[in-house]
Amino acid sequence: MRALVSGGAGFIGSHLVDALLAAGHEVVVLDDFSSGRPENVARHVADPRFRLVRGDVRDRGLLRDALRGCDVAFHLAAVVGVRHYVEDPLRVMSVGADGTAAILAAAWEAGARVVFASTSEVYGRNPEQPLVEGAARLLGDTSVDRWCYATAKALGEHLCFGYRRRGLPVVVLRYFNAYGPRAKESAYGGVVPRFIRQALAGGPITVFGDGLQTRSFTYVEDTVRGTLAAALEERAAGEVFNIGHPEETPIARLAERVRDLTGSPARIARLPYESFYGESYEDVRRRVPSVEKAGHVLGFKPRVALDEGLALTIDWCRSRNPAASGRRNLGEREGGRRDHDPFEPAQ
Ligand code: UDP
Repeated sequence: MRALVSGGAGFIGSHLVDALLAAGHEVVVLDDFSSGRPENVARHVADPRFRLVRGDVRDRGLLRDALRGCDVAFHLAAVVGVRHYVEDPLRVMSVGADGTAAILAAAWEAGARVVFASTSEVYGRNPEQPLVEGAARLLGDTSVDRWCYATAKALGEHLCFGYRRRGLPVVVLRYFNAYGPRAKESAYGGVVPRFIRQALAGGPITVFGDGLQTRSFTYVEDTVRGTLAAALEERAAGEVFNIGHPEETPIARLAERVRDLTGSPARIARLPYESFYGESYEDVRRRVPSVEKAGHVLGFKPRVALDEGLALTIDWCRSRNPAASGRRNLGEREGGRRDHDPFEPAQ
């Protein structure tokens, strides 16, 4: 098949591109490189089955051209990362809402199936675990910026279902905390690469709150396997699936595992949430997927346990930053500015 991957130079997107090309498919990547990295797709540039389109996912003309001849559009482009939700909610919502509307309109014209990367964040703080796909969304007040991402993704899901009614084959995937090589190590990334970077830099590893909040961390290869299956399985059309590993891990335990697996002497520090996210933040206490439906329909079965996935991710971080055992700041440029990480050890 021929596939468009929006956000294809990003963390999950680039792994999906690798898997698609390895399986013999043709790939068009659309990315504006606001957080995606050219190096994530550089190895494919000479491959005639690979095309790179640099641009904004909200640009309808560009999308129409990029999607021409495609059988499927994987829509992964988004402004992801809790720090973005509290710092720039307008951009999160604009890319989330307008970008998804643009992809769907172009896919409708091209007659392409859409696989929409939504998020476990849409369940908000629903306490009923494990979360099944039909579970209610329980979000806090709109004055809490954190919920803007969940709201934009939920709007995207509604748009998908609107097109489904018109006959477009759409599949909605709710990803649960993907991690692995190429994940953002900066303050805008998820907790796994942050902890690894902190451990390799000598600490401290910063646990916010009491550390008893949990997540279900999913190695990116598993996320990609579920995503590919959603495009290929006929019965997936019109459905929503959780894509995650049901192993539930408290954040304090994650910090210990990262410290032990890196062999770092790093101290684990407990810090108040506000010190990092400001006041406009509310945490999700537990988040565990039911993957029964994905298993049943997509044949999805997460294979990589946390310790194994962490070891692979640590190896990647080490290979990328051979000097990381020192106390260097591994923060990188994002959106043209230096990431501000107040918990970076003193230089
Ligand atoms: N977290 C933490 N220390 C950090 C970064 C994150 O304790 O340096 C916590 C965060 O407060 C949340 C969990 O780790 O409870 C997962 O955060 P992440 O940003 O990875 O994503 P989320 O699942 O909240 O979208």
